[in-house]
Amino acid sequence: MIQHRIGRFAVALTAVLLPLAGVQVVAATTASAAPNVVNLQYDSTDAPDYLSEADQAAANWNGAVSNVHLDSGGGATIVIHEVTGGGSYTQTDGHGSGDIYIDTAQVAEGNDPTRILAHEMGHNLGLPDHYTGPCTEIMSGHGPGPSCKNAMPDAQESAQVDQNFANGFATSSTLVSRVYR
Ligand SMILES: [Zn+2]
Repeated sequence: MIQHRIGRFAVALTAVLLPLAGVQVVAATTASAAPNVVNLQYDSTDAPDYLSEADQAAANWNGAVSNVHLDSGGGATIVIHEVTGGGSYTQTDGHGSGDIYIDTAQVAEGNDPTRILAHEMGHNLGLPDHYTGPCTEIMSGHGPGPSCKNAMPDAQESAQVDQNFANGFATSSTLVSRVYR
């Protein structure tokens, strides 16, 4: 019985230490040099009005996470499309592959295109929607309204993405593969 309890304590201690180790990696190296980093490519050529916004959205994620890195380039598994009407959404496996659709009508209504793209990239990185969240969250999406221009994930969202890709391309036990909007 005592041994069993010690074992449980050890598991709990590991769970506490892992996030700290992740922080140390960020401080000591660049994101692309992290040991387990998953390099993903995205292709935004089918969204010609939002090329710089797509790059900025990817840069925002790259600055916030250490286990996955997004670059524009060939062989892309994330393909960004520009559409009009129907809303912005994503069709994705929730783990690095998918199609992102940015709705020009939503942008015309005042929604920030960089925020939209960072949100949809978040789905490709395994995050679900959280519309009731504040503007400081990227996955709150259109919940806070078009006046919300924040395109940066918060610390909790970044930690979840790092956890989703902690095993490289292998699916993590905590992976959330929710999709759409
Ligand atoms: Zn969404």
